[in-house]
Amino acid sequence: MPVLCSTKCHRRAFLKRPKTGDALCKECFFLAFETEIHTTIQQSKIFKQGSLVAVAASGGKDSTVLAHVLKILNERYKYGIELKLLSIDEGISGYRDDSLETVKKNRDDYDMELKILSYKELYNWTMDEIVDNIGASNNCTFCGVFRRQALDRGARLLGVDCIATGHNADDIAETVLMNILRGDTSRLCRCCEIQTGGNEPNSVPRVKPLKYSYEKEIVMYAHFKKIVYFSTECVFSPNAYRGYARAFLKDLEKVKPSAIIDIIHSGEKISFKHSVKKPSRDVCKRCGFISSQQPCKACVLLEGLNRGLPKLGIGKKSKADRLITVNLVKNDF
Ligand code: SF4
Ligand code: ZN
Repeated sequence: MPVLCSTKCHRRAFLKRPKTGDALCKECFFLAFETEIHTTIQQSKIFKQGSLVAVAASGGKDSTVLAHVLKILNERYKYGIELKLLSIDEGISGYRDDSLETVKKNRDDYDMELKILSYKELYNWTMDEIVDNIGASNNCTFCGVFRRQALDRGARLLGVDCIATGHNADDIAETVLMNILRGDTSRLCRCCEIQTGGNEPNSVPRVKPLKYSYEKEIVMYAHFKKIVYFSTECVFSPNAYRGYARAFLKDLEKVKPSAIIDIIHSGEKISFKHSVKKPSRDVCKRCGFISSQQPCKACVLLEGLNRGLPKLGIGKKSKADRLITVNLVKNDF
C-alpha cells in the first residue's frame, strides 16, 4: 500500500518532513514550508505595505530560497513590497566570483534589481589581498565586520527600508549555543530577535524571515523546486567555534528534531537581570555607520590594514593598540 500524504490531499507521500516527521507529497511540503514563513512574517510584522526590501543575496541556498519564497509570498498574499537583491563581493577568487554568477541568474529569473558592492570599491582591499597580508587566522573577523557594514552601505545606496537575510533556524540555534558557551550575554540578548537595528540614525533594520525554517527543509525545498544555488564552502578559514556548535546541534537533531526550535524558544524566553549590560549602539563618528564603539570596528580594522598593522583591533587590545586606537579617534574628531 503506498503511503498517502498526511494532509489527506489523496496524493502519494513523497518525502518525510524533517521538522515534523510528517509524510507529505511535494505540493503539500511546498505549501507547508511557504506558509510557515508567511506566518512568521505576519506575526512579526517585519514588512509594511509599500516597503522596499533588499534580500542580502550570496548565491547560497538560504538567500536564494529566501528570494524565491518572498517573491511567491509577496504575490500570493499581496504584501505590497518591492524586492531587490543586494550582494557583497568580498573579492575571494574561486568562491565569491562564482557564487555571484548564481545571484545574476536569480536577478534574471526573479526580475529583481541587483546591486553588487565590492570590498575593493568600499575599502580598497579584497579578501584575497587581506589574507595575503594577515595570514591564515582572523580572516573571518575582517570579512564579517566589513560585510556587516557593506550591507548597510548597500542598503543606503538602494534606498531600501530593510534588509532581509537568509539566517535559518539552525544558524540561530547555533548562535544561541555559542553565546551560552562563551558567556556572551549581550549577544545572547539579541541573537533570537527577528528584527535588529533600525532605531539608530542611518541604520537599516535587518530581518530574518527564515528564522524558524530548518536548514534540511531549505535544502529539500531548493532540490524539489530545482532552484539553482551555489554550494561551495569559502576557501578561507571556516569559523571553528561555530563548527563545534553545529556538530553538537546536528547530533541533537538526530535524536530529537525539535531540538532546533526548542533552543530558539529558550533563547527567546531567557530574561536578563537589569545589571546585564546591553550593547549601546550609535553611529561611528568617522564613517557614519552603525557601531557599538568609537570608532567602529570596520574603521579600526581598515586603519590597521592601511598602516601595515593588521592585528590592530583583533582580539584583546595590547597597550600599543589601545594607544593607536586612541590616536585614531583623536585625529578624526
Ligand atoms: Fe568571509 Fe570567513 Fe565567510 Fe569566507 S568563511 S566568506 S572569509 S566570513
Ligand atoms: Zn566607522
